Amino acid sequence: MLKKLFCLLSLLAVVLAAGCGVSGTAKPTATPETKTAAPKAAPQTTTVVKLMDGTKYATPAYIYKSANPGPAVLVVGGVHGNEPAGAVAAQKFCDVPLLKGTLIVVPRANETALQEKIRTLPETGDLNRAYPGKEKGTPAEQLTYGIVKLMKDYKVALVLDLHEGYAFNYENHQSLGESILPGTDDKSTFLAMDAVEYINQQITEPKKKFNVLANPIKGSTAWYANSVLKVPAFTIETSDKQPLEDRANYSFKIARFIIANGTGIMAQ
Ligand SMILES: [Zn+2]
Repeated sequence: MLKKLFCLLSLLAVVLAAGCGVSGTAKPTATPETKTAAPKAAPQTTTVVKLMDGTKYATPAYIYKSANPGPAVLVVGGVHGNEPAGAVAAQKFCDVPLLKGTLIVVPRANETALQEKIRTLPETGDLNRAYPGKEKGTPAEQLTYGIVKLMKDYKVALVLDLHEGYAFNYENHQSLGESILPGTDDKSTFLAMDAVEYINQQITEPKKKFNVLANPIKGSTAWYANSVLKVPAFTIETSDKQPLEDRANYSFKIARFIIANGTGIMAQ
C-alpha cells in the first residue's frame, strides 16, 4: 500500500526547474548556495498545467512554488494577440527567483491570436470580456474558466494582466497606452500610484509617462480578481508606439514593483 502511494506520488511529482520551458518540459535549476546574500531565493518547484490541453488553444500555465511559504500571485499576458509586449513581459517572470510563496504565470493566454497577431480570432471571443468563463463555453470562456480555476485553487492574493494600447494616454485619452488600471480597493490604488511614480522616474519624455486610470474593465482578468475574489488586481497597459523591448520592459518593471511591494514574494 505504502509502495503504491509512493509510486503515485512519484508520478505526480513536480520537477525542479527554471524558466518558461517548452510545454511540459523543465530543466534543472542551478541554485548555488551563497552564504552572504540575504534575503535569497529558496529552492522552488515548477509545475506546468496546460489550459485547453489537446486543442489548438492549448497554452501553458507555469506554477513556481518556493520552499518558503507565502502568498500566491498570478501574472497573465497575451490575452490580446495584437499586444505582444504583455506576453513578452509575462514570460520574463519565468526567470525571476522567488523569496517565498507561489507565482503563477500564463504568458500566452490567447495563443492562436498571438500567432495571427490579431486581438482575437472571431470564433475565440474576447478573453478580457469573458470572465468568469464557462467550463463548456466559447474558447475565450473555457480559457478564462481555466485561469479562474488557477486563481481559486491557489487562493491568489494579487493578480496582474499585461496589455497594450495603440497610443500614449498622455496625448490621447482614448487610448489606455502607458497606464495602470488598479482595482477599486485602497491597496490596488496605492500600489498603482507608487508604481507609476517609480516607473516615471525612468522615463524622460512626458508623453511616455504612465498614468493611473480607473478601474479594470468589466469581464476582464483584473476586474474578476478584484470585484469577485476581492484581491488587489491590475491591468497594465503600455503603448505600442515604441519598440517591443522597451514596452515589455516597462510592463515587466511595473508588474515586478507591484508584486515585490504588494506581496514580497520576489525582490524588486
Ligand atoms: Zn488588451
